[in-house]
Amino acid sequence: MGKSTCYLKMKLLVLVILLSPGLEISAQDCEQPNYCDRLCWGPQGNHPAQSNPAFTDPSHIIVHHSGDNLIWPVGTDFKLVVQAYWDQHVNTNGWSDIGYNWLIDRNGVIYEGRGDGVRGAHFSCMNQSTTGICLIGNFELEAPSEAALNKLKDLSAWEASDKDLDVLTPSRHNTSQLDLFPLSGHRDGNPSPAPHSCASGTVCPGQNLYSLLPFARIDVGNYQCYNGNPNLLDCTDAVSLGCGEMYSGEASLDSSGVFSYACNNWTETGPERVHIITPTADGPIKAELSGFSGDLDVYILGSCDPSDCLGTVTSNAAIYEEAKAGQSYFVVVDSDDGSASGYQLLISCPSPVDTEDPNLASLITVFPNPAHDWLHYRLPAQVKLQKIEIINNFGQILQIDDRQGTIDVSPLPAGTYFLRFTDQNNSKTSVRWVKN
Ligand SMILES: [Zn+2]
Repeated sequence: MGKSTCYLKMKLLVLVILLSPGLEISAQDCEQPNYCDRLCWGPQGNHPAQSNPAFTDPSHIIVHHSGDNLIWPVGTDFKLVVQAYWDQHVNTNGWSDIGYNWLIDRNGVIYEGRGDGVRGAHFSCMNQSTTGICLIGNFELEAPSEAALNKLKDLSAWEASDKDLDVLTPSRHNTSQLDLFPLSGHRDGNPSPAPHSCASGTVCPGQNLYSLLPFARIDVGNYQCYNGNPNLLDCTDAVSLGCGEMYSGEASLDSSGVFSYACNNWTETGPERVHIITPTADGPIKAELSGFSGDLDVYILGSCDPSDCLGTVTSNAAIYEEAKAGQSYFVVVDSDDGSASGYQLLISCPSPVDTEDPNLASLITVFPNPAHDWLHYRLPAQVKLQKIEIINNFGQILQIDDRQGTIDVSPLPAGTYFLRFTDQNNSKTSVRWVKN
């Protein structure tokens, strides 16, 4: 936390703010998360807000820890802790109010400090154009909780979308004349040794929180409500692949749409190429990259959504054990560092032939193969056909016009297909044929 507040040349700063270009990050702001307001944590009313606040329009969200000399024990009443900070800031430090705009305890409860749009006292004499969020704890001694981090991200996503801040790109903080990420740690503006005469350097917000801020920025950037950098995958040009079919091509040169996938916490700053596969039998699917240079990663998604990432990811492959027949999966090749390398992608999955009855297959004749308009099949008398299906190379079952041994295949696009037979014993077999 900061040690004092510097008052700045207001007129100049108002001018600077008015002249700042208006970034259009978000069409619709992220919702402000619920919080415990002043009367919630100070119900007696004896921890009042300052009577004459100075307002500021934040260009930067500054993250702090409270840096207490202890780890708060389980069962701590954090309302009393917030009251104690108020008391220290007002009665000991002589400030007009608690220094932070917001505080967050380890249970994920947000407390209103000075609140929205009020200049705080937290950023080493450089408070203008900032808002200060303090996670209660000492993150040199402990790690922040998941609940607290999530609320930090929610609060930052609201603030960033409300103020049109591009959290992923450093921007000039006019008061400090530093280029800082709009979601930064206190120490980014006041490292040790301190460049400012009014405060010594600080480790705030503690190494264990500070080291997570790059991920917090990415996560905020991925909020659906934060449209400046939506974690949106474009699947409209997905390249269809069949099981066992090798894709060989170039990595995409488009701009990056996805910055992270739910399967891991890797950052993916490069563009994506999307493939789609529909296995025809239940079982594991494996997507494996080869013949590439640079840093390409591959992910299997249950839908066109990076948060719907399935299975496990290794340096050059992704495996999902429980794929279902007939369901489509998106396989994304993402170049982390923008590597524009060519690559091969092979997706293995169980094909219907793997699980079928070879005796039945030997009894069936399909002709001509390749076929253009009509495909014929012949079965011996002992085989009673229960069902016949055409499956395309991507595992999709197609409408069929079967005229007792003759199928009209003229509407089908050229390509590789299977004719799948199911007999009276529910035995299945598939015969591969080609439409030309
Ligand atoms: Zn601090």
